[in-house]
Amino acid sequence: VRVPPPQNEPILAHAPGSPERASLQAALERMASERIDIPILIGGKHVRSHKTDTVRMPHRHSHVLATVNEADASHVQQAIQVALEAKDEWARMPFAERAAIFLRAAELLATKYRPLLNASTMLGQSKTAHQAEIDAACEAIDFLRYNVHFAQQILSEQPVSSAQTWNMLDYRPLDGFVFAVAPFNFTSIAMNLSVAPALMGNVVLFKPSTTAALSNWYMMELLREAGLPDGVINMLPGDGPTVGNPALASPHLGGIHFTGSTPTFQGMWRTVGENIARYKQYPRLVGETGGKDFIFAHASAADDLDALATAIVRGGYEYQGQKCSAASRVYVPESLWPRLKPRLQEMIAELRMGDITDFRNFMGAVIDEKSFKRTSSYIEMAKHGGSEAAILAGGETDRSEGWFVRPTLVQVTNPRHRILQEEIFAPVVGLYVYPDAQFEEALRECDECATYALTGAVFARDRKAISRMMHALRHTAGNFYINDKPTGAVVGQQPFGGSRASGTNDKAGSLLNLVRWTSPRTIKENF
Ligand code: GLU
Repeated sequence: VRVPPPQNEPILAHAPGSPERASLQAALERMASERIDIPILIGGKHVRSHKTDTVRMPHRHSHVLATVNEADASHVQQAIQVALEAKDEWARMPFAERAAIFLRAAELLATKYRPLLNASTMLGQSKTAHQAEIDAACEAIDFLRYNVHFAQQILSEQPVSSAQTWNMLDYRPLDGFVFAVAPFNFTSIAMNLSVAPALMGNVVLFKPSTTAALSNWYMMELLREAGLPDGVINMLPGDGPTVGNPALASPHLGGIHFTGSTPTFQGMWRTVGENIARYKQYPRLVGETGGKDFIFAHASAADDLDALATAIVRGGYEYQGQKCSAASRVYVPESLWPRLKPRLQEMIAELRMGDITDFRNFMGAVIDEKSFKRTSSYIEMAKHGGSEAAILAGGETDRSEGWFVRPTLVQVTNPRHRILQEEIFAPVVGLYVYPDAQFEEALRECDECATYALTGAVFARDRKAISRMMHALRHTAGNFYINDKPTGAVVGQQPFGGSRASGTNDKAGSLLNLVRWTSPRTIKENF
């Protein structure tokens, strides 16, 4: 087969009066009035459990959207068995047929499932319509279509043969199952974590984040309708260690496809290390684990202050700063600060926050109480930070109806302040003003301050300064943006991932990720 190179899915505006707005509105109303029971999914069967949790609306936490059945160790064992039983047939299915299932899923998502995926991502994960659309619709569709294209490029890579000898690479799946563990913040990531290994012929145990279980469940329904055979992707919601430990103890663990926190991934890596002699193979460990992403401005950005301020506001506060890629530390030269400061304060004060079903709002609530409390403690620290920290904008929180945190900008005078070092995963941005003459020192601070290296952005017009920053910050970010915000990587355009404490840098949205899910066999035949 030759699948044509895909196009990125166009973003629908959901303008008032548009057909997409009407269908989204209807889906929102229906979802808010029902309370579905999300099962464990094993071999296509809906399994209930004695232990359940709830999915609530972050912007109205008294409202329960769904109950979630939580898997225990015996469910995990069953899922491993069922997945291994489904494995042979799935792996032997011609690639073109597997591809067709995911391409059909993309088409179904673009049409029938779009309002469901968008509405569930809005209500369950507190995304605005636009943030849901670029995630649960466009990026999820892009992953489905582009992964097929990338897989095909991999499969076409073959060695040289001669008249007497035929050499070939047989792109086998991994010998076992893949354990996919998804975060709450992107429905598209949940899609990619499970679908990329499956497309390469693997069977998957998929653990969604409970807070995102509603959108992730509709994703399972979508894949079933697209024709994915039972047992290929099994969904096991539940507590991390309860689901993870039995999966990681199985001799059939072929790989882990993870997005989430650094400590969780390190813990899993440690467990894999302890179990290493039990496995039939060395499991592939692929993880994306957070960031402390920077925006670094050079004095030559003087004519671009609006663009810089917009990048800070959009990069820092869209989706309440809960993107791994979110701008959370900013370095500004003294010469730009007097003009930038009022501009930023004014823009932040104007940001509307509240119920995400009110389409005029720019922000919703943070995901849950734990996040609200953690964020509040950083804000308290800044308030009582003496001469080292000052809140320039925001700083207010309100938990009465939803987990609301106003977009907050904190200026710090110590370049190693905790606000510049630690991942808060919320709308709190730290900012450090450096003397123009200390450009080099500030670059060094930017590189050494945090342990993460996911995304970063520099602003400058001077080409020499751009080169200098590209070099000095070469290992500080896996996604490096020049004169743009550090969020919003597009599948096929900006392969996404970082190194250091941010992950294994197996670029999502590129061939480099897909290649991790195959274990090729080299075959030589003499004629
Ligand atoms: N790919 C997303 C972006 O570029 C971020 C994904 C994440 O939060 O892990 O903004």
